[in-house]
Amino acid sequence: MIETFHDYINGEWVPAASGRTTANINPADTRDVIGYYAASGPEDARRAAEAAEAALPGWRALAGPQRAKYLEQAASLMESRLEEIARTLTREEGKTLMESRGETARGVALLRYYAGECWRACGEVIPASSPRALMFTRREPLGVVAAITPWNFPVAIPLWKIAPALAFGNTVVFKPAALTPAVAVKIAEVFEAAGLPKGVFNLLTGSGGEVGQALVGHPAVKGVSFTGSNAVGQKIGAWAVQQGIKFQLEMGGKNPVIVAADADLDQAVDLTVSGAMRSAGQKCTATSRAIVVEPALDEFIDRVVRRVQNLPVGPGTDEAAYLGPLASEPQMRSVLDYIQSGADEGAEMLCGGVRLQGGLYDRGFYVQPTVFAGVSPRMKIAREEIFGPVLAVLPAADLDEAIHIANGVPYGLSASLFTRDLGAALQYIARIEAGMVRVNGETAGVELQAPFGGMKSSSSHSREQGRAAIEFFTEIKTISLEPAGDGK
Ligand code: NAD
Repeated sequence: MIETFHDYINGEWVPAASGRTTANINPADTRDVIGYYAASGPEDARRAAEAAEAALPGWRALAGPQRAKYLEQAASLMESRLEEIARTLTREEGKTLMESRGETARGVALLRYYAGECWRACGEVIPASSPRALMFTRREPLGVVAAITPWNFPVAIPLWKIAPALAFGNTVVFKPAALTPAVAVKIAEVFEAAGLPKGVFNLLTGSGGEVGQALVGHPAVKGVSFTGSNAVGQKIGAWAVQQGIKFQLEMGGKNPVIVAADADLDQAVDLTVSGAMRSAGQKCTATSRAIVVEPALDEFIDRVVRRVQNLPVGPGTDEAAYLGPLASEPQMRSVLDYIQSGADEGAEMLCGGVRLQGGLYDRGFYVQPTVFAGVSPRMKIAREEIFGPVLAVLPAADLDEAIHIANGVPYGLSASLFTRDLGAALQYIARIEAGMVRVNGETAGVELQAPFGGMKSSSSHSREQGRAAIEFFTEIKTISLEPAGDGK
């Protein structure tokens, strides 16, 4: 018997107003239906926004350390369910169990980190012109905040929005990606079990196209934190501007590694392959381009291809799998179309390039890890986000040209340089147009205690995580307090 799951609104599990549900399918084996999830619509968005609005006065009135207790409790509860949540994540999204465990552990750490932030000072005392005045700032919550998130990190991304939103006194309506409602329901169960007051946290599952505008456009909603594609982000930004509400958009990437002639090739190959192929390339920070300075080119390509050809692909539950399936059939079709465009535009396909077939592969959305060489910066596979296990290798004459190529796309999320030359590293750090800059590291991966976000079209230029989160989830009141009369 396949279970049906509801929205979580005002502390209760309720079906979508329309009564409709959508099947959640395992991308590693499409015979496996995980459950039926509420297909929410505008009426559900209205109910969730109003519940969050009603809960706001009580929640924002709590002292930070009082709010911390709920987040600490949620962290412990999530930790106690780590294996179950990680298995659900693998089952509905496809990534390997090792990655799902790591992501769920990150979710626990995010809850703990922002429980800690509840205790920290949030405001400053500023010298006023008048010696009699006390001038200071207060950080106040925005109010009701919508968190709209993608499917590729369905535990970590929601929690790096929801945890700081709650910590700083906002109430939340969470709209996860349509592909990953199961872990979203588990996150809601954790907040429910942590005893959050009714309406402080609300969950709407279903399609963004159905609920998105009703949610962002609801007058109670005062902020929207979005992670996802540029096409959707631009719409959400435009609605937010119309509503006059605060917004934050974290979007796509086309992340390069630059391999200098003096790079440690063992390290460069290892971290390029893992940046490109882990999670089947479905990370916003995945390595999508390797820009290799000529003397290192042939050996780099040779070694990368030898590694990639041998990567085990299989269900995420198979401990031997390096990468799992793509998250959905449309995602797989889109990746295969990009691969075709690379071949059509004359890039040299050195390995992969096809949907894997036969046996268990026929039941899921598996694409063979793919490497193209001879890629020119004008080709589609060198410019657009593919979001799949595809690496494009581009040659460069020297570091200067490599940086120029790296910067020649609209995105600017993450980048890495492999070199032993400190001068080259400093030059690259100064010139690279990316929010996340690594030297001798992988483009993928984030540290929850550090600011995260992109430059150029990858972001609306705000930052998430670490202490940066307070900038989005609060606004500043500047207060000047003076004694009455002559102050005696
Ligand atoms: P998406 O834009 O299709 O969906 C993201 C979210 O927006 C989902 O919850 C979806 O339901 C919702 N949505 C869709 N249409 C909407 C609408 N009309 N109104 C309101 N909401 C709507 O993205 P995706 O396919 O889930 O995720 C992949 C994308 O996310 C990639 O481009 C990737 O680079 C990006 N991403 C960025 C980061 C980052 O931090 N920069 C991290 C992860 C993923």
